[in-house]
Amino acid sequence: MSPLYSTPELQRPGVATDPPLHRTLREQQILLDSAGVGIVFLRQRSVVRCNQRYAEIFGYASSARLVGINTEAFYPDRDAFRELGRMAYPVLAQGQSFRVERQLRRRDGTLFWGSLTGRLINPHDTTEGSIWILDDIDEQKRAQAALSAAEREKQLLFDSAMVGIVFLRDRHLTRCNDHFEQMLGFQPGELMGSSSRRWYASDEAWEEVGHRCYPFLASGQSYEGEVELCRKDGTPVICEVRSKSIDPADPSQGSIWITMDITERKQAQAALSRAHEELEQQVQDRTRELRETVDNLHREISDRKADQERIYWLAHYDALTGLPNRALLAERAQRAIQVAQEKGTPLAVIFLDLDHFKHVNDSLGHRVGDALLVEIAKRLRAVVRDKDTVARLGGDEFILLLPGANAHGAARVASKLQEASRQHYQIDHHELTMAPSMGVALFPQDGSDFDTLTQSADVAMYRAKLDGRNTFRFFTPEMQAQSVRALQLENALRRALERDQFRLHYQPQMSLATGNVRSVEALLRWQHPQLGQVSPAEFIPIAEDSGQILQIGEWVLRTALAQLKAWRSCGFPGLTMAVNLSAIQFRQPQLPELVSRMLTEFDLPPDSLELELTEGVAVDDPHAAVATMDQLHARGVRMSMDDFGTGYSSLSQLKRFQIFKLKIDQSFVRDLGNDSNDRAIVSAIIRMAQALGIRTTAEGVETECQLEFLHEQGCDEAQGYHFSTPLPAADLEVFMRQHLHRDSPADALA
Ligand code: C2E
Ligand code: MG
Ligand code: MG
Repeated sequence: MSPLYSTPELQRPGVATDPPLHRTLREQQILLDSAGVGIVFLRQRSVVRCNQRYAEIFGYASSARLVGINTEAFYPDRDAFRELGRMAYPVLAQGQSFRVERQLRRRDGTLFWGSLTGRLINPHDTTEGSIWILDDIDEQKRAQAALSAAEREKQLLFDSAMVGIVFLRDRHLTRCNDHFEQMLGFQPGELMGSSSRRWYASDEAWEEVGHRCYPFLASGQSYEGEVELCRKDGTPVICEVRSKSIDPADPSQGSIWITMDITERKQAQAALSRAHEELEQQVQDRTRELRETVDNLHREISDRKADQERIYWLAHYDALTGLPNRALLAERAQRAIQVAQEKGTPLAVIFLDLDHFKHVNDSLGHRVGDALLVEIAKRLRAVVRDKDTVARLGGDEFILLLPGANAHGAARVASKLQEASRQHYQIDHHELTMAPSMGVALFPQDGSDFDTLTQSADVAMYRAKLDGRNTFRFFTPEMQAQSVRALQLENALRRALERDQFRLHYQPQMSLATGNVRSVEALLRWQHPQLGQVSPAEFIPIAEDSGQILQIGEWVLRTALAQLKAWRSCGFPGLTMAVNLSAIQFRQPQLPELVSRMLTEFDLPPDSLELELTEGVAVDDPHAAVATMDQLHARGVRMSMDDFGTGYSSLSQLKRFQIFKLKIDQSFVRDLGNDSNDRAIVSAIIRMAQALGIRTTAEGVETECQLEFLHEQGCDEAQGYHFSTPLPAADLEVFMRQHLHRDSPADALA
């Protein structure tokens, strides 16, 4: 503690130190020392005295060290020092206190803020000096600067924030930043004091937001959410809002609201989500389209596959019976032939053709024919082994491919097929029998490839047909030549009628009783420019097979009747005409009608016509045959049984058939001269026929001897080279005229 009296001023010699003054001074000294502020007494700008605090503020250890120091040292520079002097003394000179805050300089050179208050001791005499009170306010100054910087920063933030900041009290705006007003389209300051209702579209909207937000604020929580505000021009603004009470305990302090315009963001979001939805929709649409496309593709593929399978099936199988067709057969045959070749094993091919299948189609219709084929196909399939192939070539032709089968095996299969065909087929109410003719070809002797083997089997089948059908034949090389001719004939036959290649020859049938020409038999002749004269025995079976026999037969009937008409009207009135009829013609339901029509056409009596039938007519369907014969008989047409004795018909059947006459086959007549057997047969036939009231004609009579025997036996007529070969009409007419003079034609049979 520095004693105030230690100041030189006070201890100056000569100055009386009376006890009251002394006390006062001491009291002053205590006051100075205990004051929290620095106090200095200056004169002539130098320190006269100061207290300890003053010394401390400037960084001096004791007040004594400052005595006599020019106060300029306490200022940052001379200018600052002088400026203060200039400011202070006019005030001080008025006797007033001068107060200022200034930056001062400590002893170590650092600057600090000090608050100075000075006063003159004697305003009338400045030389008496002045007293200054100094307070170190550096700390306070710095805090203040920091505070105002913070304030400034806050304001800056407030003003430049990109969000709207609003202070509300009682839902009235007390303060807001520019951004808020800008955001809502108001002028700066325009909203001051307004109710917040002003930036809502309606009372309802305003109240709704109040109900939504204030409970949070009241409980001290902040509210965060979206609020739709309304611009001054009425357009909506969607804002993200954060609000909080300034003091939850005191609602009257109001609340602060930070609002951010998210309209664009919202719009962008909406656009985005719309785009998203659209995209989603597009993706869904596209996916659906794709799925449909894929489904369609799948369907198309499976359709195509099914089509392909169907095409394959159609290309390889017979649609009616489901049996392999020729194409598949050819494939399998090729493979089978290869195996047979490699392993040296046998292989057989059977060509099968149904006998008289065409009649079923013609008389019962295609539907029945088809159903029959299906049943036959099943039966064929049932007879053979799994590894065998049964194929249908079309029509009534089938081929059996029998890998591993030799001649013996093939014969067994053929027999089994014959056996199987013996049972009748039941199609609707029809009981049908259908016998096959078969030809067998063996690998490799009858052909080393499929085509040759098939041709060979076909030729053998053809032979089986010629040999009486319902049988099978093995191929032989001789057959080959014959079959080539058969093919040629079949082709040539197609044109024969239109090219007028047919003629009729007539052979007389002589009454043995009178020696007269009783009737003539029309025999068909075919003269082909290349093939020459073709025998009816050769071409008629071919014409029957191809169905051409119907047209040909009609031509024969018409030509023969025309000729008969001509003869009957030129000198042979009692003459009758015998016309050969194929079994196929006979099965035509319209035959009786056709015959009657022609007789009427030529104005001939029915009994002037004699239809020569073979026993075959009754083989397939005896009932139908009897019915047709009954009809013909009823019309007065006569029927004779040709080639009698070669077939199976019994005499009792002849009666039922309404047969007028039977013709003993030339095979019995031929050897009558030396075969006692034949003589017995012929005489038996004649007698039995006589007993049944049926007339007899002997065919192929060539000798007088034969004629004699027949005459003895009571045969009615004879026909043969002995009398005449078959002749053209003109020649026969000459023949008949030659025989006319012997007996009267009126002598004809009653
Ligand atoms: P068919 O009806 O039995 O005719 C008699 C056949 O014996 C004829 O042969 C005839 O020329 C022959 N012939 C006649 N007298 C003698 C003889 O003394 N000795 C020998 N060896 N033969 C004799 P063709 O004309 O060759 O006729 C053969 C067969 O062709 C006929 O046998 C007949 O079944 C058939 N045919 C002929 N013309 C027709 C026709 O217009 N329609 C039909 N469906 N068949 C016919
Ligand atoms: Mg005849
Ligand atoms: Mg005959």
